[in-house]
Parts: sequence; C-alpha cells; structure tokens
Amino acid sequence: MNEVNETEGPYDYDLIVIGGGSGGLAASKEAAKYGKKVLVLDYVTPTPLGTTWGLGGTCVNVGCIPKKLMHQAALLHQSLQDARQFGWTFEEQVHHDWAKMKEAIHNYIGSLNWGYRVALRDNDVTYVNAYGEFVGPHKIKATNKKGKETFYTAKTFIVATGERPRYLGVPGDKEHCITSDDLFSLPYCPGKTLVVGASYVALECAGFLAGLGLDVTVMVRSILLRGFDQQMANQIGDHMESHGVKLIRQFVPSKIEQIEPGAPGKLKVTAQSASSSETIEEEYNTVLLAVGRDACTKNIGLEKLGVKVNEKSGKIPVNEVEQTNVPYIYAIGDILDGKLQLTPVAIQAGRLLARRLYGGSAVKCDYVNVPTTVFTPLEYGACGYSEERALETYGKENVEVYHGYFWPLEWTIPSRDNNQCYAKVICNKQDHNRVIGFHVLSPNAGEITQGFAAAIKCGMTKEQLDSTIGIHPVCAEIFTTLSITKQSGGNVQQSAC
Ligand SMILES: Cc1cc2nc3c(=O)[nH]c(=O)nc-3n(C[C@H](O)[C@H](O)[C@H](O)COP(=O)(O)OP(=O)(O)OC[C@H]3O[C@@H](n4cnc5c(N)ncnc54)[C@H](O)[C@@H]3O)c2cc1C
Repeated sequence: MNEVNETEGPYDYDLIVIGGGSGGLAASKEAAKYGKKVLVLDYVTPTPLGTTWGLGGTCVNVGCIPKKLMHQAALLHQSLQDARQFGWTFEEQVHHDWAKMKEAIHNYIGSLNWGYRVALRDNDVTYVNAYGEFVGPHKIKATNKKGKETFYTAKTFIVATGERPRYLGVPGDKEHCITSDDLFSLPYCPGKTLVVGASYVALECAGFLAGLGLDVTVMVRSILLRGFDQQMANQIGDHMESHGVKLIRQFVPSKIEQIEPGAPGKLKVTAQSASSSETIEEEYNTVLLAVGRDACTKNIGLEKLGVKVNEKSGKIPVNEVEQTNVPYIYAIGDILDGKLQLTPVAIQAGRLLARRLYGGSAVKCDYVNVPTTVFTPLEYGACGYSEERALETYGKENVEVYHGYFWPLEWTIPSRDNNQCYAKVICNKQDHNRVIGFHVLSPNAGEITQGFAAAIKCGMTKEQLDSTIGIHPVCAEIFTTLSITKQSGGNVQQSAC
C-alpha cells in the first residue's frame, strides 16, 4: 500500500465499492469501462443458522431470482390442475420434490455467481471477498473469512451494502426461525409453515409455499403490503385466503420453542394479540420471519468519517447525485433513505453514478414512476401513485379512478377465480387526465406492467390509453377499454359466463 496523504493521495484505487450486489457490481463495471482502477469488496455475513452464498448480492442469491423460480414451481402446480380441464389425463400421483427444486435453482444461481466473477475479471475490476469497513479518510480495512486484514485507499467510495432480514427480538427467534436468507437454500421441505409479516417478501413466500401444497399460515400485526395501494393489497390477501392460506391478523409471536429437532423439526409458537392480552399457541414445522429488513450501515465505520445516517431507519441520506454529506463517499441501492428498494433501481443508480463520475455525463437516476411487481399467486403489478396517495396529493376532486374486473380466457375452462383479476388506472383531472397510477392483479402482471410503465414515463393520458387498440384475447387489453369510474359506482364485476 502507498503512503497516503489523506486528502490528495496517491491512492491504491480510483474507486472502491463496498458491496458486490446489484448496485455495486453495476457501478464498478461501468467505472472500469472508463479506464478507472476499481476494487469491489463483497462479503456475506452468515445468517444465525449459518447460511451463506456467493457473489451478486441479495437479488441473485436470496431474492428476486430464487423467489421467482419458486413462484414458477407453484404456478406449475396450478397449471397441472387446469390441464385436466383441457383434456389432459395423467394417472401419476402429483408429488413435489423440494430438494430437487432447490438443487435446480441452486445450480442456476451458481452459474450466475460464476458469471459475475468472470464479468468483473473481463472488465479489469479487482474483486476481494472481504468485509469492508472505513478506518479513516479515504481508507478502508478489508477482513477476509480467515480474519486476515488488508488496508486499501481510494479517491472515491461507493457504499452499496444492501439490507439483511430483521429478527423479532423474542425468545427463540434466532435459534429456531428462518428468514428468506435461509429459505431458498433450505435442504428439506419446510412443511407446515408460519410466515410472520405482511411485507411483499412475506406474502410472496407464503404464496409459493402454499402453491407447492404446504399448510401455510401468515401472521400479520397490522396491514398487508404497507406502502402499496391498499385496495390491491386486500384483494391479494382475499385471493390467498380463498386458496388455502390462513391469515392470523393482529398477532405477533412472543416466543418460539423447539418441541422436536429434525429437518424439519417441530416448533411451538406463542403469539400475543396486538390489541388485547389474548395469547394463542400453535405448532409448526417452520417459522419464516419476514418482518422487514435493516440497512447494513452499522459496523462499516461510517461514523468515523461523519457520514450521516438516518438514526431511525439506519438509511443513508444522499443528494440527487447519490452523494453523502462526505463528498467523496456515495451510496446506492437499498441503503438509500427514502428511495425504492429494487434491483433495477440499484443497477440504474450505480451505472449512472459511474458515468457521471468518470464519463462526463450529467444524467441522474430518475426514481419517479418506477414499476414493480409483487409475485403473489395472483401477481400484482403497479406503477406510479397508489389510490390513497393520489387522493392525498391531488385532492379527491382532481382524481379520477377507472377500474374493472376481468377473467383471463385461460381460466374460463377450468372455471376458476372469476372476479379476482382487476385493473385500475388513476388519472389527474387537472393535467389532461394524465395517468398517474397503474395497478393490475393478473397472471403475468409484471410483463403487463413493464410496457405500460414506458407509456407512463412518456406522459400517457387516459385519452391516449383509450385510443390504443387492444390485443385480443389477452389480459392487458382491459386497459384499453376501462370506462367505469369509481366515483360513478358502476358495476365492474364480470358475469360468470
Ligand atoms: C426475498 C426478496 C425478494 C426480492 N425480490 C425482488 C424482485 O422481485 N424484484 C426486485 O427488483 N427486487 C427484489 N428484491 C430486492 C432486491 O434484491 C434489492 O433491491 C437489491 O438486491 C438491492 O441491491 P443492493 O446493491 O442495494 O444490495 P444487495 O444486492 O443486497 O448487495 C449488497 C452486498 O453487499 C454485501 N455487504 C454488506 N456489507 C458489506 C461489507 N461491509 N463489506 C463487503 N460486503 C458487504 C452483502 O453481503 C451483499 O452481497 C427482493 C429482495 C428480497 C429479500
């Protein structure tokens, strides 16, 4: 390491990125394209049960990728049932092999981990599998798995350390419960499962576990999917309940005890009412905690350099160019205060930041109208304002909501789930009826929402939406014919046939 003048260098690297997840990898590869000398540190602290994984961060290893693949496994179960109505006959007893699914998903993730390493090497980015911590101005300590410490300096830093699941802080939680960080590599089928929480992670996991045929209960302290449109959130809850997921509302676990060890073993959960002194007890094979995630901003030495962190949320406030209050330290991805926690957001922010730092660009990351999808059994796609936030922001008299139920053609033959799929667009009457909110409950909701998000980005009005000719027969065509407003109270239910 060079002797370094703390303000002027010379430094070992132009850029050090702490965290090799969605945001960190995107930023480091982009920076290296401009000929910069870049180091990425990535280190996964094992879960309390010892689970760990490879390079690439949350999305690839314990997030988007394994969860969408498990969601797909569950959808196939439904398709098998539908197939009989379309004339397929199969004698075989339908059985799901968890270990086989887990293995297949793991092999795929392994190929992605390898691909990331190769991409870093091809881009001349140095990758070190070590935990990064600021120890002084422009200087970090990297500690590897064996405890070996190495010190590096850089002119600029990007912090992209992401988040990790929160625990409840009640007896038995860390010893006996799992989180999404453990679920996707669980070597055995979790069996009868209690999912604690109402986040999208909780509902998605509950949804695919139930879809795989497991006995699933979701324990919710207050509302479902906080921050999302509540009408849509409640419709998701109703759909899950009508498909066998049990919901226990207004309870929180107060104690988890092991009754029998095993794979899975047996746990006794004691839960306390959120509104009275009532307690309930029940036995499960697995308890999955999905009660929120904490930003990995502690124990990385930010306080040593005076980097501001929101004390309540643990998140890092940044300006519109993702710069912290310490000018040479930037932050991107899930650890940002008040920004969206999604992979494409972290990637976009990382790439654009590197272009601004080294490529002479002035383009900033646009965090407005970011589309997203919740992969519950009935998928939910959304872009823009929720109905409640639109009303709050623009006033009831300035907002028009158009909506309607629809029945996917594919579901008519199996005669299932009529009046469960739903479309809603929210328009700003003061601004040419511009579409400011888009919501859909539908199969393939993500595929539908992506295209409409582009139109919303271009400023689509309701008139333009109405003049778009639909594709028949697809779910998304409903959006070209929505004519009933919520205010009119008109009937939006589909007749059964
Ligand atoms: C179950 C689940 C499902 C999800 N599904 C979706 C989805 O469908 N679509 C979507 O867009 N998003 C989804 N997300 C969110 C998505 O995974 C995150 O938004 C994204 O990974 C954030 O990227 P990041 O770069 O900020 O952090 P991460 O990807 O979390 O990467 C941070 C990396 O930094 C490492 N690290 C932390 N501290 C240090 C340190 N001190 N030194 C070195 N390394 C460190 C971490 O181990 C990790 O590898 C999901 C998340 C979860 C948990």
